[in-house]
Amino acid sequence: MTERIIPIADLRYQTRLPAIPAVPAAPVGLLADGRGRRLHDLRISVTDRCNFRCTYCMPKSVFDKDYSFLPQASLLTFEEITRLTRLFVGHGVEKLRLTGGEPLLRKNIEKLIEQLAGLATAAGTPLDLTLTTNASLLRRKAKALRAAGLTRVTVSLDAMEDAVFKRMNDVDFPVADVLDGIDAADRAGFGPIKINMVVKRGVNDDQILPMARHFKGSGHIVRFIEFMDVGASNGWRMDDVVPSREVIERIDQAFGLEQVDPNYVGEVADRWRYRDGSGEVGVISSVTEPFCSDCSRARLSTEGRLYTCLFADHGHDFRSLLRGNYSDDQIGAAIAAVWAGRDDRYSEIRTAETATRRKIEMSYIGG
Ligand code: SAM
Repeated sequence: MTERIIPIADLRYQTRLPAIPAVPAAPVGLLADGRGRRLHDLRISVTDRCNFRCTYCMPKSVFDKDYSFLPQASLLTFEEITRLTRLFVGHGVEKLRLTGGEPLLRKNIEKLIEQLAGLATAAGTPLDLTLTTNASLLRRKAKALRAAGLTRVTVSLDAMEDAVFKRMNDVDFPVADVLDGIDAADRAGFGPIKINMVVKRGVNDDQILPMARHFKGSGHIVRFIEFMDVGASNGWRMDDVVPSREVIERIDQAFGLEQVDPNYVGEVADRWRYRDGSGEVGVISSVTEPFCSDCSRARLSTEGRLYTCLFADHGHDFRSLLRGNYSDDQIGAAIAAVWAGRDDRYSEIRTAETATRRKIEMSYIGG
């Protein structure tokens, strides 16, 4: 008997063409969604490719040599990204984060940064222009990124112990090279640098204290992230999540911590500082303490689909508008309409059942 192969829907193609309102509302920088949430941050994925195969994000079993990454022609060009971003800024976006995939793999990324750094808010203030990276190319590129106008970098690092880190990145990449990248970024003027560690029980939770110890007193800020059920390929189970509460307890017992007020409403990380004054750590608790109620983030995929939630299953196809004969006013109005219709609050309604639903992959939508 021949085996029947059931094709799995590729969510990257599940998109809607944004509606263009008949009477476009003028951008006044004050958009609110269906739950009264402002539009403040735009995360821009510049590539769906990565040179790591982190087991919790791009497992080799799925992202192998047969996986079809996006073809070059479908990527937004730098000019398209900048045009769209300018329209988002008109609607109140003040913070941009370039991500991916691995954003430093996108050729001439400095040119995009230069273009984005030329944008300003309606009040004329510069944008907060940041980038998240695995740091594999940071040593080589830190200076040029800074010169292009990047304001901050966040580096991902999941362990201090080489064997644990290599098991997680699954491409044999050593900790020392990430640390070199962090040093280079610091020398280029990016300090203090935020360092993201995804914590998975039984995989790297024994690295919480070594990470805290290493960066304590360095000026850099480690942020411990709860392992999330993004996408549908990382085999997420609630049992794998180490609640932030537990992370804080462990660090508190070892070094002594006290809580600090957030920098601004909607900040994703809860802040804690060492009682001896030697710096700060953060925890991002999107599983155990969801922060949907003040989520102000929109996400743009590499090919120009707009997603209003990290856990979305469909996007809005802005590339078709950019490449169609639409004016800035029309595209800006379409952005406003998508945001006005936003009702997402996935992390508040997460259950074991929702976790198995098909969702767009993190490497596609951007972290
Ligand atoms: N390649 C870049 C990097 O490594 O930082 C940017 C993209 S990566 C998808 C962005 C962030 O998402 C990283 O800090 C990564 O650790 C985090 N991430 C990926 N999958 C995750 C998951 N299932 N749960 C929590 N964080 C995750």
